[in-house]
Amino acid sequence: MTTFAELGLSRPVLEALAHLGYERPTPIQEQAIPELLAGRDVIGQAQTGTGKTAAFGLPLIEYVDPSIDDVQALVLTPTRELCIQVTQALRAYGERKGVEIVATFGGAPIRSQIAQLRSAQVVVGTVGRVMDLMSRHELLLTDCRYVVLDEADEMLDLGFFEDVETILSRAPSGRQTALFSATMPPPIEALAEKRMFEPVPIRVRAAQLTIDTVEQFYLEVSDREKPDVLARVLKEERPDQAIVFVRTKIGVDRLARSLSERGVRVKALHGDMSQGSRDGVMIAFKGGRERLLVATDVAARGLDISGVTHVVNYDIPNSPDVYVHRIGRTGRVGRSGRAITLISPRERRELEAIERHAKTTIVEWSPNGRRAAAESRGAEPVAAEAPAAEPAPQEPREARRPRHTKPRRDGGRLAKVIVSVGRSHGIEPADVIGAIVDRTHLDGEDVRDVRVLERFSFVHVPAAVADEVVSKVDGSDVRGAELRLEVLTR
Ligand code: AMP
Repeated sequence: MTTFAELGLSRPVLEALAHLGYERPTPIQEQAIPELLAGRDVIGQAQTGTGKTAAFGLPLIEYVDPSIDDVQALVLTPTRELCIQVTQALRAYGERKGVEIVATFGGAPIRSQIAQLRSAQVVVGTVGRVMDLMSRHELLLTDCRYVVLDEADEMLDLGFFEDVETILSRAPSGRQTALFSATMPPPIEALAEKRMFEPVPIRVRAAQLTIDTVEQFYLEVSDREKPDVLARVLKEERPDQAIVFVRTKIGVDRLARSLSERGVRVKALHGDMSQGSRDGVMIAFKGGRERLLVATDVAARGLDISGVTHVVNYDIPNSPDVYVHRIGRTGRVGRSGRAITLISPRERRELEAIERHAKTTIVEWSPNGRRAAAESRGAEPVAAEAPAAEPAPQEPREARRPRHTKPRRDGGRLAKVIVSVGRSHGIEPADVIGAIVDRTHLDGEDVRDVRVLERFSFVHVPAAVADEVVSKVDGSDVRGAELRLEVLTR
């Protein structure tokens, strides 16, 4: 099995992963990370729960240079929830490297987001807010060469595609683009065709992947008894964290109230709540301060909550896809989860249809089934009071790629220069060094840390002569391609 170190990640990132308790890359990470590190465009067909955020996020952190204060990378998301979630993940991945990440989404004061933008290297934003910031000239994408579209199909569904096109058109054409989407409807294919460069397709079968680790139960109950039965199930199951899905917004409020009346502490989440209170609930739940969330599908869309041990379908989902999507929120990578579906007698056939389509088995829940199952595995049931122990940080293995090493600073300061050609132009590091050495008085030793990516390259030269290098080499021709140079930092 592959390790993160073998994928080519640098030490600060490996340390961050060890700290998070990620031990092995997931399939999408294993496939996408090397491609993205090499500067290629990637189309990842993957849902929440597959580890897609780290698949694009780890190479993004590797790509960004924390010593440069420009926006170097942009992640576009369809919703504020996803925006906040991706931001939290990227901050964790980039913590040791000191990368500054700002979340920009609507419904929150734009001023503080603008203030944060000034020192940010990475912007994670919803489509609408990013458009807004661009039109106010507060967000410039001229140096943004790593762009991610996360959950592109949701952006399409929400009618954001025209804006997505506009945003992409403002980033340099030589940028690297990663697109992640659970499905690939024709407009997404068309966008990829138009706005991406020979993207590498990567696909993982998420549905299978996520529900394999979930133990699934059903419980037949009349509508009237539902709240009582749910309270009993929760008491018996003692989840660390649970999401209870209800079909309608009114239903969410009603159930949250009736659980509260039974002394169960619970938070509601649905689309009629103000965005501020939705954020509050989400953050409290993600942070583990709330144990129980009652939500509609839409409100909980794309929500990944890694601590979730239980999903309860208070109302039976109206399709197998929704079922898989809901219960995929538990049993995440390397952990197991439990899903319990309440059905009325007339919903039995719907349950069977779900079993058939999702190719899964749902067994009847029983009050002491949990204990029996746990004992048969030789394990104690997890007490709700005992938080899951943090996995011990692992010492990351060696292997970091030379191209991630910082330029040596001996012999004076170095300036970082971007060169407009890359592997797709048939360029190798020696060509870049040659172009500079041939046209200046520098020798090969002075030209450091050359990184040739797919469509552009980076090189370091002594800061004192950076302008001279640019003026002498800019416009020259290598392997039939015209070189354009620009100093990024000095
Ligand atoms: P995502 O599909 O990006 O929403 O990620 C799903 C969940 O899996 C998140 O809670 C991540 O923190 C977690 N995760 C992602 N990659 C790994 C990994 N390699 N090992 C363990 N957990 C992971």
